[in-house]
Amino acid sequence: MNELSVQSKSRTEFIDITRRVQQFAAQMKLESGIITVFVPHTTAGITINENADPDVTADMEMVFDRMVPWTGGYRHSEGNTAAHVKATLTGSSVQVIVENGRLALGTWQSIYFCEFDGPRTRKIWLKESV
Ligand code: ZN
Repeated sequence: MNELSVQSKSRTEFIDITRRVQQFAAQMKLESGIITVFVPHTTAGITINENADPDVTADMEMVFDRMVPWTGGYRHSEGNTAAHVKATLTGSSVQVIVENGRLALGTWQSIYFCEFDGPRTRKIWLKESV
């Protein structure tokens, strides 16, 4: 298993980690297989979506905030219930196919680490399987 470190700069932020996952595939000399990308946090998640227009991730951040407002009479005393809910909406892992040593992603797809309670230093775990 390999661990990446990601530094978020704001409360909600989508961070493109595609290049770092591709570097991991190269480092592992993985020609054909699967990489699991796992986020070991309860207030951050992971997703795959469009990389061409940065307005897409900006809009998603806005929609997440509309769907799950930061305040709302929640019970959780830490005060970050919205971040927990958003993390569950995105999920904690994605799997990406590797073929000929390259991540098999659609033309416009990137892998995004989703920060929902930043800024923080976060971990991402990567594991290859053949
Ligand atoms: Zn909490």
